[in-house]
Amino acid sequence: MTRAYNHRSAFGCWINDMRNKAMPRENWPYGVLDDQTVESIIGCLELQRQAGFNEFCTFGLLVTRDWPVDISSAVSEDRRQKVNTIIKAAHERGIKLLYGLGVYSWGFDEIIKNCLEVRGPNPGAMCGSSPEAWCWMQKVIDYILAEFDVDGFHLEASDQGRCSCPSCAKQGNVEYYSRLNGITAKYIRSKWPDKILMVNMCGYIHLDTKIETADMKYLVDLSRHLDYIIDPGHRGQFIEEKSRKNFIQSLQCDYGTSGGIWVYPPQRWNRLRWFLPHTIRTGQHLKQLYEDGGRAVEYYMGPTVNPGVEVNIAFGGKLLSDVEKDVEKILAEVVEMLYRPKNSAACVQLVDIFQRAENAYFDHWTPDDIAEVEKLGIPGELHPIVYLLGHAPGPAAYLRKPYMDSGGRTAYKKEMISILNDIRTIESGIAAKTRVTRIKTCIKNTIWDIDSCENKTGP
Ligand SMILES: [Zn+2]
Repeated sequence: MTRAYNHRSAFGCWINDMRNKAMPRENWPYGVLDDQTVESIIGCLELQRQAGFNEFCTFGLLVTRDWPVDISSAVSEDRRQKVNTIIKAAHERGIKLLYGLGVYSWGFDEIIKNCLEVRGPNPGAMCGSSPEAWCWMQKVIDYILAEFDVDGFHLEASDQGRCSCPSCAKQGNVEYYSRLNGITAKYIRSKWPDKILMVNMCGYIHLDTKIETADMKYLVDLSRHLDYIIDPGHRGQFIEEKSRKNFIQSLQCDYGTSGGIWVYPPQRWNRLRWFLPHTIRTGQHLKQLYEDGGRAVEYYMGPTVNPGVEVNIAFGGKLLSDVEKDVEKILAEVVEMLYRPKNSAACVQLVDIFQRAENAYFDHWTPDDIAEVEKLGIPGELHPIVYLLGHAPGPAAYLRKPYMDSGGRTAYKKEMISILNDIRTIESGIAAKTRVTRIKTCIKNTIWDIDSCENKTGP
């Protein structure tokens, strides 16, 4: 029997992170849902179907930061139709759609401004001790489930921080966030028992710390109301690897991660500016996680027009669907599917090119320096861009210190040039010409970014 993850969730994570056209002047997260967003998301859903994902989750379908006080005016008729188109496209592909739901935060800024009763010291998070805040939370859930055919929720209470009023401050972070996620999950279960419910622990504790043994009971209690918990691993997992097996066994639901390593797609960047496949590293992580008992993954999506993103998604879905399969065989299947090589030699060379491009970056980045300078763990989430927030594309952080030094850049550039030359020698043996052209564009743009780092007057 094939061994597969139960929850193979494709994680948006915001609607325009998957957008195949950059929004160079728009602040993150770009909330407009237009035809380009819909087209890009449906393209991504089709790739998810081919790869074997069974769930898709995204934030921002209805709102980003602000539910209005009347709730329903958030959604215009045009937006409603577009959201329904996306839900239908997921269902037609056998994929369940989970709505990315901020719990007490992400979505309540306007309500916090207007309602004194829910306001604590944090302008981005409602007070966890306020009965009125709990009413607002229920109103939002009731609205979504009355109006839209979603299959469940990604619950997230902890990304924007918490309330620290005297009443809330009595609870530690793990207890506090688990309580808010727990009451929300229980409420949904009581009224809509067939919905899939999961919690993503993004922001639960400081990124450089681990969950203490004394706090694990709050997560075990929370797990009774969920299908799975994701310990994403932005800078390493919150559950220490040595206690992971035991922790997983103690839960009443599945446990998982965001896949080990991922590239958070820079919304303002040209979609062909970077080329960062990571199938070798993803393969190692997913096999080990499954071995330890992990059965859920929330795997980051991105603009599928980027050939590294596209291969990472297809590879991830296929491995999650058949964990014991050899990673090179999976990569070969992915390359066959997307690039249609005309002979086996071209297929082997393409596999080699994706693996070499991965090592060209990750053998030369300096994760220990990053951890030391940023006072955080080694990144699971890699941001190519300097600032997530802002109104300009900006320079490439992932090629500069502390991510990479001059010696690393020289080696990375040398290998990228070598790969570019090798692609030119094999491209006549590949049927999917447009995709090959995109790889070449990505590599040329990467080299341009590397050169810009050496030029102090550059971007
Ligand atoms: Zn409070």
